[in-house]
Amino acid sequence: MSKQKIIVTGGAGYIGSHTVVELIEAGYEPIIVDNYSNADRGIIVQIEKITGKTVQHYELDCNDLAAFRKVFEAEKNVLGSIHFAAAKAVGESVANPLKYYHNNLQSLVNLLQLQLEFGLEYLVFSSSCTVYGQPEKLPVTENSPIQKANSPYGNTKQICEEIIEDTVTSKAKLKAASLRYFNPIGAHPSAMIGELPFGVPNNLVPFITQTAAGLRESLTIFGHDYDTVDGTCVRDYIHVVDLAKAHVRALDWLQSQEQNSLHEAFNLGMGKGYTVLEIVQTFEKVNDLKLNYRLGDRRPGDVVKIYGNVDKASHILKWQTKLGIEEALKDAWRWEERLKGIELVK
Ligand code: UDP
Repeated sequence: MSKQKIIVTGGAGYIGSHTVVELIEAGYEPIIVDNYSNADRGIIVQIEKITGKTVQHYELDCNDLAAFRKVFEAEKNVLGSIHFAAAKAVGESVANPLKYYHNNLQSLVNLLQLQLEFGLEYLVFSSSCTVYGQPEKLPVTENSPIQKANSPYGNTKQICEEIIEDTVTSKAKLKAASLRYFNPIGAHPSAMIGELPFGVPNNLVPFITQTAAGLRESLTIFGHDYDTVDGTCVRDYIHVVDLAKAHVRALDWLQSQEQNSLHEAFNLGMGKGYTVLEIVQTFEKVNDLKLNYRLGDRRPGDVVKIYGNVDKASHILKWQTKLGIEEALKDAWRWEERLKGIELVK
């Protein structure tokens, strides 16, 4: 039997590249579609080195419907897609909301239109716990109320879920899973792929590793007087390899479903909260080094405390996290060290 093809938009990005590796290892044939606006072309070679397989890839913007259609015309018998391609910087989305609404919404609309036209029944969508805002009750479940988004980026994730829901409600032949990620961290244990922020990182762990590597002078911890165990914000972190595997499980599960149309959301995290200070201290401990950091002001718009209940993914997708923050922070550091030796195109 020939391998089942899956279109992976944003497949050269951080979570996308790890998912491509897991798809290949599970016997799928991923087809990467990426415009490299926030990814490096060299990542494809790294994926090929890890898996020993060549990976079909197309350079294009999913917002360009005509160019995107050519992929569907060229690739026969594609089973479904995993949609990562999106802009994801919260601050930038506040400064430039139209970029986010145009980019993140249009690319999904194009993908859905092409899926229906070419008969691809399965979609795994990259959503986020940002849809919950600051929840009143913790841990959040998939039934926790969706709050008004606190950034245009967050709003695009909410609207994208609604677009999928409405498409399914219209009785289109579409089975979809929206995966609500908590905070993905870490890198592939081979240290061949990992997070590759362009410019100053917004996220905590790349900032930590770049500080440890001497690329940044010091990490600022945003806020230390919150109502938490040590005054710093609480997040639910998840190793990117565990997260990548969940996409394969979601795809397998969707294929086992008999209805013509369905849409389910799943939380994906460790199901446990860690403070920023706990992350910093664990990073220092597992990598046996000292990090230059200081306690600074709160970052506007930060959620104080969030962690998820991940029972639904565990029961339905038969998925469990296997890796903890220790492994994630070791892998993140190994990747940062390895980055020096990798020839990247951009
Ligand atoms: N954070 C920090 N310093 C940084 C970057 C992040 O203290 O340089 C904190 C941030 O305030 C938050 C946590 O680390 O409490 C995770 O932030 P990140 O931006 O990685 O994810 P998100 O805010 O989307 O959960």
